[in-house]
Amino acid sequence: MIYDYIIIGAGLGGLSAGLNLVINKKKVLILEKNSLPGGLFSTFKKGRFEFDTSGYDIYNYGNLEHVGELQKLLNKYEIDIDTKVIPFNSRIKELSTKKEFELKGEFEDLILELGDSYPGVIEKLKELVKISKEIHEGVEKLLIDEIPGEEEYTNFYKYLDKNALDVLKEMKIPKEVINKLSIWWLDIGSPLNKLSFIDFMDFLEKLIFKKDVVLCNKNLDFIMKLVNKYQALGGKIYYNSEVINIINEDIKIVETKDGLQYKGKYIICDLAKRYVFKDLIKDEYKDVNKLENARTIGANGVVIYLGLNKSYEELGLNNYKYYQFVTLDSGTNIKYMNNLNHNTWIGYVPNVVNENASPKNTTILVLKQIYFDDVFKNQQAQDYETIRNDIADNLISQFEEAFMVDIKEYIEEISIATPFTIERITNSVNGSMYGYMKKGYDNSIHRIISYDDEEIAGISFVGASSLLGSGVDNTIYSGYSVTNRLLKEKE
Ligand SMILES: Cc1cc2nc3c(=O)[nH]c(=O)nc-3n(C[C@H](O)[C@H](O)[C@H](O)COP(=O)(O)OP(=O)(O)OC[C@H]3O[C@@H](n4cnc5c(N)ncnc54)[C@H](O)[C@@H]3O)c2cc1C
Repeated sequence: MIYDYIIIGAGLGGLSAGLNLVINKKKVLILEKNSLPGGLFSTFKKGRFEFDTSGYDIYNYGNLEHVGELQKLLNKYEIDIDTKVIPFNSRIKELSTKKEFELKGEFEDLILELGDSYPGVIEKLKELVKISKEIHEGVEKLLIDEIPGEEEYTNFYKYLDKNALDVLKEMKIPKEVINKLSIWWLDIGSPLNKLSFIDFMDFLEKLIFKKDVVLCNKNLDFIMKLVNKYQALGGKIYYNSEVINIINEDIKIVETKDGLQYKGKYIICDLAKRYVFKDLIKDEYKDVNKLENARTIGANGVVIYLGLNKSYEELGLNNYKYYQFVTLDSGTNIKYMNNLNHNTWIGYVPNVVNENASPKNTTILVLKQIYFDDVFKNQQAQDYETIRNDIADNLISQFEEAFMVDIKEYIEEISIATPFTIERITNSVNGSMYGYMKKGYDNSIHRIISYDDEEIAGISFVGASSLLGSGVDNTIYSGYSVTNRLLKEKE
């Protein structure tokens, strides 16, 4: 049997690619190394808790008024999911100034609040909102192979290749206001002095219009909807099938760890190119490698999943998100994030936005500490467990201290994921959670435009390391966008 397409990896990107291909009547096989689909976006059980591994903020899904691209795509796939739009509900602490504040409501509320403190800023922020809409539309056009018109999309062209921080400064937006707009930089995975203005505006548009959305059910329920639909349309998926070799001939041969071989006309990898070049394809692909090696591997991190035996109200955890930064200036803050124990982290309390997040009178708290360097690389294997437990202990203590709450005595379950865990589960390079860092010229626009130049004959890439970078919306969209290009090419 020769498949039209073999997809390696059943993460969000791979499943979306598979679904689009079977909808278009292709013979598709997905090979997944784990016993469950979903990759980084999954759910695991521990005791009476079911923890979602990721996806605590879903962007670009939208609502009735502003339907996001993710929602449109899932409608196309006829996948129905239950979601809830959540207004801002964050508490933020800045260590350097000892300032703490809440962010509540909508982006409009933030604009009004900033306008009260900084005269003239309202007009500038409104202009930014307008620009974000235009830029987002421009990016969407490029993604469907349309060129945004130069007259209609002047800002898109004006700001192409500009850096986010530089433009905000040029617009004379006060530093304190820029810092408040930077709060989401950890969600994007790049500080504003490295991020392109286009990527920042594209994100802002989603945040402002499509809002932040959460799933009402568990991640795995959503994943199984994708899998079931894919299988119902004739797609095959084999679990426990780790690919260890790709023989890239006219008809490609994919070999799995258990010694089986599968043949396909085309391969799609839901994986980082660096891993595929190094570990799966034995040839060298010099030109593609040159481009790829210039990229920066995205952030990795430690995630602590806590099941607490009290309600969030009793614990005093009334916000959905908790951030601690050394400073709100993202470019400066990132410099403090390159050792095992540092002071920047995010906490999520899903119960605040979803009453079914965990059993009655219990709470889930997820703490995430991010690193922009491979900080685990010099650690010895025999020290791993101690290091991991120390990081968790330190992080929980910091959280207790920062927001004056008691957590440790109510811990019923704890699970700690390190970059090693993430690398072991998904083969992501250095355990990266974010694919490649969006940085300088390696921004979405360049990735979309240069996508075809970077292609190896017969092998394509989807997911976090592909066109749009990481994120639930981006990875699902990449699966759709890349397969559409392939289907068109073959017409
Ligand atoms: C802790 C954390 C929190 C996050 N929070 C959010 C959030 O709030 N909002 C958001 O939008 N995004 C979030 N993300 C990002 C989002 O979850 C990811 O970008 C997305 O799930 C990645 O999907 P992917 O398609 O790139 O594939 P991956 O999830 O990386 O999946 C790749 C798949 O390939 C399989 N595989 C690997 N090697 C092989 C092989 N050799 N053979 C066969 N199969 C193989 C793996 O097992 C895996 O199933 C978060 C990520 C993490 C880690």
